[in-house]
Order: sequence, then C-alpha cells, then structure tokens
Amino acid sequence: MVNAIRSAIESVCDPEIPVITIVDLGVLRDVHQVGDAVTVTITPTYSGCPAMDTIREDIVVAATTAGAGSVVVNTVLSPAWTTEWMTDEGRLKLAGFGIAPPGANPTCPQCAASDPRTVSEFGSTACKALMVCSSCGEPFDRFKDL
Ligand SMILES: [Zn+2]
Repeated sequence: MVNAIRSAIESVCDPEIPVITIVDLGVLRDVHQVGDAVTVTITPTYSGCPAMDTIREDIVVAATTAGAGSVVVNTVLSPAWTTEWMTDEGRLKLAGFGIAPPGANPTCPQCAASDPRTVSEFGSTACKALMVCSSCGEPFDRFKDL
C-alpha cells in the first residue's frame, strides 16, 4: 500500500514533457505517509510555472487512486530548484523527446551537431528556449539552465 502510493506519485509526469516524471525533473522532494494520509513535498521548477498546478492536481489524483485517504501537497521554494537536480535519466529522456537538455553545450537532438543558435529565449514554454541547428536546420526546444 505504502509503495503503491509512492510509486503512483513518482510516476506523475510533467504535463509539458509527458516522458519526464517529477522524479526525473528533481521536483519531487519527499513523500511522507501516516496511515492513509499522505504529505507530498515538491519544489517547483520555477515560481509561476503553469505546469505546477497540473502536477499538483495529478499528484492528488495519482495518490488517491492508489489508495490514499487524504493528500496534502506542500510546495517548498527554498532551496530553489535548479536544472542540476534533473537526473541523468531525465536528461536522456528529454533528448529522446527532441528537447536539448540543460547544460553548457547544447547539441541538436536530430543530428547531434554542437553549434545550434538561439532563435528566441522563449520557446513553446517559458522554461525552454527555441534554437535552430546550424547544421541540419532543424528547430528545437532547449531546456534553459536555471
Ligand atoms: Zn541538427
């Protein structure tokens, strides 16, 4: 029961990047359970990220479906989330989804060329920049460093 609830919470995905879980993102900080009451602690990727409301609702639904009687989702802003918290697996999944992971040297997810240029600091969402590959010409999103 405990593990079912925890694993249900851990499999909640970023609504904007459905291959990435909140564990991959480094957003899930703690799951605490007393009886069937669950307290979940998350740190948003950045304050005001619209995806966080959806993630919060998805956590409640996932935990309740897995058998939790009550679910409280706490948001902790300090220490602030950084892209450092993203797991290696999360970075690989991002790349597989066609989004360049955060880091010093972005590479094109299509052809792996390492000289893309930034077209706009705001891609499909505020946390991504729109880039275009200088080699194959493909546009792609890059998860910004925070
Ligand atoms: Zn390319």
